Amino acid sequence: MNPVICGPRFIARKGTAMSSSLHLDVLVAPYNPIAGLISPMSKGEATWPATSVSLISGERDAVLIDAALIPADASRIAEWIRATGKNLTTIYITHGHGDHFFGLNTILGAFPAAKAVTTAAVILDAQQQLSPDLMQFWNTILPGQIPELPAVPDALDGDIIDLEGHELRTITVGQSDTAPSTIVHIPGLDAVIAGDVAYNGIHQWLADTDHDKRMQWIISIERVEALRPAIVVAGHKRPDARDDDPAAILGGTKTYIRDFDQLLSGSHSAQELVDSMMVLHGDLGNPYTLWTAAQSVFEQGQGASS
Ligand SMILES: [Zn+2]
Repeated sequence: MNPVICGPRFIARKGTAMSSSLHLDVLVAPYNPIAGLISPMSKGEATWPATSVSLISGERDAVLIDAALIPADASRIAEWIRATGKNLTTIYITHGHGDHFFGLNTILGAFPAAKAVTTAAVILDAQQQLSPDLMQFWNTILPGQIPELPAVPDALDGDIIDLEGHELRTITVGQSDTAPSTIVHIPGLDAVIAGDVAYNGIHQWLADTDHDKRMQWIISIERVEALRPAIVVAGHKRPDARDDDPAAILGGTKTYIRDFDQLLSGSHSAQELVDSMMVLHGDLGNPYTLWTAAQSVFEQGQGASS
């Protein structure tokens, strides 16, 4: 079994008036093998992408951002939180895709006093994941690893999560690999937890986009850039990728979208699109994501018209 890799530990102190400090710890759940085949990928090649969770800690309390997908990963996350000795008060979910909140059942089981929250619009998107079609998708690719009834977060009151007097600011940016998507800006850490607005070293889920959505995703990334964070934690990242190079992370996410959009307009098949993307981005993790995106956009009738 792949180990769960802990990211670097960042420490920031908030002003001279406060003696308390904030800490950011990042944990990346590993690539998970997917059952079944996505033609023409061969057996064993298809994996679900590595997915991050972030723990923001004060002196006593902690807030978890996102909750991963399968129970095995969620159990490791719960152990990791318990090892910090902090009191988990809140779990914030950045967007409504199951790979960021299906782990809630396990984590809330371990920390029953914690509240799982998100914005009202994200709740509606998350509830869509519980539709028969989407639950069938999840159960097909990860049989026996999806909760029968995944917990859905409640509505956050306002847009600020208070952590011992420090503000964790949730911001709805709109489109990423889904909409609506939110990020969490933590001024006291000079950090943005970007959910799936940013990817880092890994193919991007463009399966549910058209040209307009791809351009809107770029605008969402530019909203993160405007905050000028020193740290950007991507929702999906290569397990050993650094979080402290925002220009590379955010610039790289935009470049991938533009390359996909441009190469798609000249491609006549999913295979052709994958081949040309791999020339530019063959070093990225999780090619399953690219295959899924390429097949999906051609099924939607996108691509070169002649
Ligand atoms: Zn995701």
